[in-house]
Amino acid sequence: MPNREISLQRTVTVQDTADVIVVGGGPAGTAAAISAARCGRKTILLEHSGQLGGMGTLGNVSVFMGVGNVTGIYREIIAEFLPAALPSSHHESIWPQYSPFELRHYLNQKLEKEGINVYYHTSFVSALMSGNRVTGVVANTREGLRAFEGSVVIDCTGDARVASEAGVPTHSGRDEDGLTQPMTLMFMMQDTGKPVRQYLPDDCYKYESVSDLPQGRHLYWGGMGNGTLLVNMTRVKGNGATIEDINYAEKEALRQVFSVANYLQRNNHGNYILSHVPGQVGVRETNQIEGRYTLTEDDLTSGRRFEDVVAQTNYEIDIHNPTGGANTDERKLDGYDIPYRCMLPANVEGLIVAGRSISATHVAMSSMRVQATCFALGQAAGTAAALAIEEKVSVASISIPRLHEQLAAQGVLIVQ
Ligand SMILES: Cc1cc2nc3c(=O)[nH]c(=O)nc-3n(C[C@H](O)[C@H](O)[C@H](O)COP(=O)(O)OP(=O)(O)OC[C@H]3O[C@@H](n4cnc5c(N)ncnc54)[C@H](O)[C@@H]3O)c2cc1C
Repeated sequence: MPNREISLQRTVTVQDTADVIVVGGGPAGTAAAISAARCGRKTILLEHSGQLGGMGTLGNVSVFMGVGNVTGIYREIIAEFLPAALPSSHHESIWPQYSPFELRHYLNQKLEKEGINVYYHTSFVSALMSGNRVTGVVANTREGLRAFEGSVVIDCTGDARVASEAGVPTHSGRDEDGLTQPMTLMFMMQDTGKPVRQYLPDDCYKYESVSDLPQGRHLYWGGMGNGTLLVNMTRVKGNGATIEDINYAEKEALRQVFSVANYLQRNNHGNYILSHVPGQVGVRETNQIEGRYTLTEDDLTSGRRFEDVVAQTNYEIDIHNPTGGANTDERKLDGYDIPYRCMLPANVEGLIVAGRSISATHVAMSSMRVQATCFALGQAAGTAAALAIEEKVSVASISIPRLHEQLAAQGVLIVQ
């Protein structure tokens, strides 16, 4: 536990200056960068890892959940990357499985074509502030600490890292106890066509029945048609944005991977080897900002509409048991709006927060967190950032009709 503080004062070289700085290259960050660049703004993206795609690639979460629409940059990605899955209308749900390796390559190429300078292996460290306005960031690069200056910063870290450092209040998990959804290390198995060697390390678990499994259920996809099985069956309690919980989760989740793989091999998958384990555990829920509006369970269940809507989804309430227990709370929804204000910190200027860490309650975030919705939020954030620069106003003061016009011009269909 931390027991004292030290003060750090450093002079840092300014590596780059841009109109828009996007921090984090997951679904929200890639879409934010693409849309800001397409609005004619010099845009850079800082990504902690060596790949784009966020949980979709880094965490091997390689299925896009259905959200009731396929529109904007998400639609474009489907059209280019998974054309067989493209629905004819913007109003359909699709649930395509994809190769995380191919998405990683596709996104590298896509951002390069858009003229976005992606800084890989660059981790946000600290926000540069002028009063209550964010004016840039300091990040740890392969060459040490560097500063990046910009007119608008978009926090797409999933953990609201930039927002927290800039002084934006955040909250985590359930109201009653702060518990977040558990973490899961997704993995792949491959059909080899013949019986495989089974491997269960000594400190792993020998699951005998479905009720012994961490999620108390089988959850896997074989939709690639090439003998690949994508498995989502591990579950580790904890908040992946805390040092202690992530340290525990990385070891426990891998133990569960070997245990579940061994269980599957003993149960109808005797020809499947463990073929891919991603480099990090998947983190569903960490920090939500306190924004100008907080999305609630009631907004979801009542299908609330907002004038400043920027994304729409009917993805269900989907809460993996935060205690680490076996059940999952799944409740169907008819569809609802996510307002722009959920991405705006209440007390800090020059900053938009897109993706899973927007201002939302624990229940509301369980639905809005999926990849397609994060692409939509990122696209709106990038467009809003560019509009604020063009209109020479704060990100909170942009014209919402103009934001809607520009999103429509980019192929985003919002049902009013
Ligand atoms: C186990 C699991 C299963 C899921 N299943 C599905 C599913 O089947 N379908 C679906 O659509 N969604 C699913 N989701 C949800 C979905 O994957 C995420 O909610 C979504 O990827 C969030 O997008 P994001 O852009 O907000 O953040 P993330 O995808 O978390 O991306 C954040 C990015 O920011 C980077 N970053 C973090 N900190 C820093 C820093 N300090 N400096 C620089 N970069 C940083 C990270 O490296 C990462 O690339 C699942 C999630 C998990 C964990």
